[in-house]
Amino acid sequence: MEKTDLERRLLITRQAINQRVKEIALEISSDYKGKEPVLIGVLNGVVFFFADLARELSIPMTLDFVRAASYGSEMISSGTVRLTKDVEIPIEGKPVILIEDIIDTGLTLDHVVGLLRERNPESVKICTLIDKPERREKTVSIDYCGFKIEKGYLVGYGLDQNQKYRNLPDIYILE
Ligand code: 5GP
Repeated sequence: MEKTDLERRLLITRQAINQRVKEIALEISSDYKGKEPVLIGVLNGVVFFFADLARELSIPMTLDFVRAASYGSEMISSGTVRLTKDVEIPIEGKPVILIEDIIDTGLTLDHVVGLLRERNPESVKICTLIDKPERREKTVSIDYCGFKIEKGYLVGYGLDQNQKYRNLPDIYILE
């Protein structure tokens, strides 16, 4: 069933997002002092978080993106994940930070991390704006997390519903 605008409730304000992004960037800048990590974003939902986070880092970095498609409906991950866009820069021997918008079942992340590890990076750490553990199927160890949300479907700040609402500056929950 398509949800309407009336069923959207403000959950995380742009101010709270901004504050948390700055805190995570400080933490990453400190952890990677003297290094030059490769930030890899998982498209499309990550774009705003990625852009904001990257600009707050005080260390040198390079960036690239992957796009993962999961078969099944928009709101429920089916478990079958494939990459429709791969990284284009070499990551062998480099410290990689994988940046996600939201980790739900963990299936997407598990698949992407597996593929990245095959290329022998120095390390792979995980950074997500939102950790939603309720439907977790794969155990994933998250190194940097913006917000932990128990359940619900979120839109805004990159997160979509049928490709809409990505440009909302705040995060809403569909009820
Ligand atoms: P997972 O494979 O962890 O189940 O799903 C990860 C992907 O599913 C996210 O990158 C995101 O695209 C989508 N997803 C999971 N939960 C939500 C949600 O609450 N809102 C939106 N907009 N997308 C979600």
